[in-house]
Amino acid sequence: MTTTLPQLILKPGKEKPIKNFHHWIFSGAIKQFPKEAEDGDFVNVYSSSGELLGSAYVNRKTSITARMVSFDNAEPLDSIVSHMDKAIEMRKNFFDDKQTNAYRLINSEGDGIPGLVVDKYDDVIVVQITTLGIEKIKKDIVNYLVAKLKPICVYERSDMPSRREEGLKNQVGLLYGEDIKEKIIKECGALFKVDFIDSQKTGFFLDQREMRQHVKKLASNKTVLNCFSYTGGFSVAAALGGAKKADSVDISDPAIELAKENFTLNNLSLNFNSFFTADVFEFLRKDSIKDVYDFIVLDPPAFAKKRGDVVQACRGYKDINRLALQKIKSSGILVTSSCSYYVDEKLFQQVVFEAAVEAKRSVHIIDKHHYAPDHPVNIFHPEGNYLKSLVLWVE
Ligand code: SAH
Repeated sequence: MTTTLPQLILKPGKEKPIKNFHHWIFSGAIKQFPKEAEDGDFVNVYSSSGELLGSAYVNRKTSITARMVSFDNAEPLDSIVSHMDKAIEMRKNFFDDKQTNAYRLINSEGDGIPGLVVDKYDDVIVVQITTLGIEKIKKDIVNYLVAKLKPICVYERSDMPSRREEGLKNQVGLLYGEDIKEKIIKECGALFKVDFIDSQKTGFFLDQREMRQHVKKLASNKTVLNCFSYTGGFSVAAALGGAKKADSVDISDPAIELAKENFTLNNLSLNFNSFFTADVFEFLRKDSIKDVYDFIVLDPPAFAKKRGDVVQACRGYKDINRLALQKIKSSGILVTSSCSYYVDEKLFQQVVFEAAVEAKRSVHIIDKHHYAPDHPVNIFHPEGNYLKSLVLWVE
């Protein structure tokens, strides 16, 4: 038992979410913050009646002042190591590296460790740290990952806006091993080149793997337009699924260039599949694309990065969905996603409904987002559920 840790005491009644294994303690729930604790330190958390609830790391710069890392009397670092062990072990049930060798090993609260994401790209590990508490134990985490997984290298991709709220600067670079910069990975048999430094997220959007497989199944004989294509994940999946044509649109030229490389890697033609470096909002307005595509994928970046962005974000979602619905051929399929945490499933569906009304199209939901075992959502922490998708039949 960690008697030496500073003691954080909650206000009466505020222990309930913690007893239900929720990780977050907001500033308003705290009766007494320990004077001796510095931001990023571990503390023990007590109810107002003096019951030990577990341990957390703290940061007074953010409204989530403490994040629980254990719900018992285990040492915080021991608890984090135990969660990492369990998360890595869990993935062994679901992935065969011969088919898919890139997946998320640790999914923050989804695996019981707020502030830490670890992705595996074959024998390369990429770490993403969002909080000061985890930043302070970065060395321990990297040492653990190196000893446990024996990677050829470990990269850090801690470059998200949320780090600013924690008082942290972005950090991107090599933490261990050989600086190989990029790697060809396998996803359900398809090959993709991943750049670990000049790229988005930790290099690849692992969270859409199941939806890419779904698109692959539905794309046979279709003429597909993949909007916000990034490095062509959905386009390659559609082409491998037998699409007549799979076109990609993204605003980033390096992403489009990598998409072309990914087509070549999978022996797919660059002749009849087209690649456009363009703004999707403008591209979808072109008259020339009306009734050309009978399958459209919309997988934009998060339009709402904070709660205050929701109204503007919904306008953006409505715009692209309305435009896609206006342009798609009849008897078409629209796969539409939102990764904005602040736009929940219900609101997203409402926005797509409004888009369908404005586009005057008859739309049927035929499927929804497919979860993946490497992005588990902790049942005690539903906030981790940021990604939603609708698969629509457009008459
Ligand atoms: N579907 C992709 C991931 C998409 S990430 C996959 O499966 O890998 C979102 C992408 O949208 C990024 O590549 C970003 O460059 C692109 N993007 C952002 N704003 C855009 C815009 N207005 N028009 C076109 N692309 C945009």
